[in-house]
Amino acid sequence: MEQFTNYIDGQWVTSDQSTRNVNPSNVDDVIGEFARANAEQTIQAVRAARAAFRMWSFSTPQQRFDLLDQTGSAILERKAELGRLLAREEGKTLPEAIGEVGRAAQIFKFFAGEALRIGGEVISSVRPGMTVEVTREPLGVIGLISPWNFPIAIPAWKIAPALAYGNCMVIKPADLVPASTWELINILCDAGAPPGVVNLVMGRGSVVGDALVNSPDVDAISFTGSVWTGRAIGAKCFETGKKVQLEMGGKNPMVVLDDAELSVAVEACINGAFYSTGQRCTASSRLIVTEGIHDRFVDAMKNRMQALRVGDALSEGTHIGPVVDERQLQQNERYVAIAREEGGQVFGGERLEQASRGFFMAPALVTGTTPTMRINREEVFGPVASVIKVKDYEEALWVANDTEFGLSAGICTASLAHATHFRRHVEAGMVMVNTATAGVDYHVPFGGRKGSSYGPREQGTYAREFYTTVKTAYINPGAV
Ligand code: NAP
Repeated sequence: MEQFTNYIDGQWVTSDQSTRNVNPSNVDDVIGEFARANAEQTIQAVRAARAAFRMWSFSTPQQRFDLLDQTGSAILERKAELGRLLAREEGKTLPEAIGEVGRAAQIFKFFAGEALRIGGEVISSVRPGMTVEVTREPLGVIGLISPWNFPIAIPAWKIAPALAYGNCMVIKPADLVPASTWELINILCDAGAPPGVVNLVMGRGSVVGDALVNSPDVDAISFTGSVWTGRAIGAKCFETGKKVQLEMGGKNPMVVLDDAELSVAVEACINGAFYSTGQRCTASSRLIVTEGIHDRFVDAMKNRMQALRVGDALSEGTHIGPVVDERQLQQNERYVAIAREEGGQVFGGERLEQASRGFFMAPALVTGTTPTMRINREEVFGPVASVIKVKDYEEALWVANDTEFGLSAGICTASLAHATHFRRHVEAGMVMVNTATAGVDYHVPFGGRKGSSYGPREQGTYAREFYTTVKTAYINPGAV
């Protein structure tokens, strides 16, 4: 079986332990054995990054542009192959996986340009003869910790800005899906990343992630994952004086008003709730529907759900791939059972048998729910959506905001007035009008509010807020 090793200080380094990466569509298909680093190896990677920072932080914008641009081109050239690998390790359908790989490439291209665009400001001083100059500098060594649901896009949107702005990085991908990140690091290495600038330590969060978070040589942590892990990491970063960025869970509302175009609303909800097997932080998990359209909407959703084909991620015609693993599938089943016990009516949601041994589940729509039910308060992270019937727009907005999360929110309506009011008043980092809550552009800020996010936004030019630090210089030219 193929063995994949860590990348530390420009060397491929093995470990005593490894993780077997299996295909959730077919557990008999093993992708490979991936080295599991220990804490000592993690610290070696951090030291290598620290040593390389002296050089990389003074590299020219052209050097950084070339590295990122070549990486983006190499990803694009291998889009189909990398998409297949991603679909095999995570379970997204092949078109979704290829789309994610394309997005990773575009992110590298975007941040290649950012390396050239780092500017500063010259501001008139309040003191005569003095000039004030405000510039941005890299932070130092950044620890990047990523989740399993976007195995290449999330590593890309952390690695690319870290490098573009002159930082060195150590990435720990999710133990469940290390293959896509491994390939990404291999591409960066081939594109000429100098030793120590880019480091990969695979393995467990409790070992590798913890070592990164506790290391005094790491200046900042960018984390994406669950609220529970994120908050624990945030507290440790505060104790050790690190800058931290946390992107966490969601319980994203999609409001459907009486005047919505039914087919548009149904497509937005089907896509938002069930594509990528509902395993998106931006998934529409609460469908908040006004009473005039409620019954027609529910009927149309059920009809549309019956046409969705659940199956092997690599098979043509599959709309919904498998759940990522048995543990997540059991969590989905538990939430469906809880929703039923609390009085919801469940359509779909059963475990499915297929020709291969995988983790397949029919999408579930839970109707007759109220905002206080657990299904409407806790993130499931699977193909499970609930419907909350409300009287009017005002109640819909109130219910949409009645959550500890605030990542993405959507509204389907023909009313400009309601869409405008919703955009201004919904408590979320991203707002969608007549389109799914999931599915975003790569060149604009991404992130949320409330319990969903902490720290500066990721992606777009806004990423520089996290990956750089500001220096204010006072210059008195008359003094010499
Ligand atoms: P998770 O369990 O929190 O894990 C995320 C990462 O943290 C993994 O690499 C994990 O390692 C690592 N980790 C675990 N314990 C750690 C520790 N003590 N110290 C340092 N690192 C540690 O999340 P997940 O299950 O992979 O991902 C699903 C969650 O991510 C959902 O809640 C989803 O909403 C959220 N998400 C949010 C966004 C966003 O941008 N807002 C995007 C995608 C996903 P292991 O591999 O060993 O578990």
